[in-house]
Amino acid sequence: MKEQHIETKCLHSGYDPKNGEPRVLPIYQSTTYRYESSEAMARLFDLKDEGYFYTRLQNPTNDAVAAKIAALEGGVMAVLTSSGQAASFYSVFNIAGAGDHIIASSAIYGGTFNLFSVTMKKLGFDFTFVSPDITLEELNKEFKPNTKAVFAEVLSNPSLAVLDIEKFAAAAHAHDVPLIVDNTFPTPVNCRPFEFGADIVTHSTTKYMDGHATSVGGVIIDSGNFDWEKTDKFPGLTTPDESYHGITYTKQFGKEAYIRKAVAQLMRDLGSIPAPQNCFLLNLGLETLPLRIERHCKNAVKVAEYLENNDKIAWVNYPGLKSNKYYDLAKKYMPNGTSGVISFGIKGGRAAATKFQDSLKLASIATHVADCRTCILYPAGTTHRQLTDEQLIACGVPDDLLRLSVGIENVEDIIDDIEQALSLV
Ligand code: PLP
Repeated sequence: MKEQHIETKCLHSGYDPKNGEPRVLPIYQSTTYRYESSEAMARLFDLKDEGYFYTRLQNPTNDAVAAKIAALEGGVMAVLTSSGQAASFYSVFNIAGAGDHIIASSAIYGGTFNLFSVTMKKLGFDFTFVSPDITLEELNKEFKPNTKAVFAEVLSNPSLAVLDIEKFAAAAHAHDVPLIVDNTFPTPVNCRPFEFGADIVTHSTTKYMDGHATSVGGVIIDSGNFDWEKTDKFPGLTTPDESYHGITYTKQFGKEAYIRKAVAQLMRDLGSIPAPQNCFLLNLGLETLPLRIERHCKNAVKVAEYLENNDKIAWVNYPGLKSNKYYDLAKKYMPNGTSGVISFGIKGGRAAATKFQDSLKLASIATHVADCRTCILYPAGTTHRQLTDEQLIACGVPDDLLRLSVGIENVEDIIDDIEQALSLV
């Protein structure tokens, strides 16, 4: 049989009920699993048999959803986490530690930037932040002998920079380290980074994958393509783990080594698993992901074009617009559309932006994006409120920037709402 299309995988991958079993993925709301002999349980603890023993490590509902997302991204295995933040942290911490160096794009979600530049710095990590627009030559110069990974967002939040995945992968691979990319905004429906050389993909599933703003969550997916044994840079994967009876993950699990280690070691020691109930909700979101993404993108293009042609608007940033500096990269990596997120500025600065936001009736003011309902955020007046005008410019958030997450309502209603709010500015 031919490989299924993504729409089909969104509905069917990860869970294959047998005769008489529930058609819909059940919620295994159980922390524990019963065994009939000490020997059976011991074999699980030695990682010799497959099976469940405690939900902090694995749970059937969670595993089915992880397997679905691995199939969507074209990876070999995935692990779900309790948030996107946990996914970003574990994706790096699984292969690096104190004293190691990571190169990260500076165009990343503020929470990830904070995690890397403040919290992980306290843990002894050294990060170098580079522009996503850096040349390959300049990027190559940033590597050090202790560099362990390169991290970037495929479509950055909120700056909407499109990553040249092939360029970043080439630099990472030339230095024998993996490229980890956060694919939250495009989702695997619009971009499959493994096809362009990325090695590990992360997501905040809280966004489009859930899509209904019900559950915070994250996921890490491994392509299985990176050769951890090529160098001695990744002893955590290639030498015996004393905390697990001396097993060597690459020897025991081959292409699944990276995710198996994240589960056996990081989940065991640090937790951060999602609740099975949340995974059930995430799975419902995934079932309709391609339909929603198609509508989000279609609506966003129309809204972006409307804004670009409106005299009250100072500027529009949407990689799906021909005028955008990332248009060509977007066409290459996301030929069917980018996402529903647009940023734009209104003439008249803070006062106009606030008046506009307060006048919207359909769009909600919310610290969220990628929700099926249209929502808006004015960073200078909310998340970045404590910053001075100079600091706002330095972190790429002009004081007139509005971030609009275009939902799946009828686009005429979304534009009507924007129009009536603009008429009051
Ligand atoms: N990655 C991106 C691109 C995000 O936008 C976010 C959150 O907004 C995160 C990661 C963190 O995810 P979470 O809020 O699920 O912890």
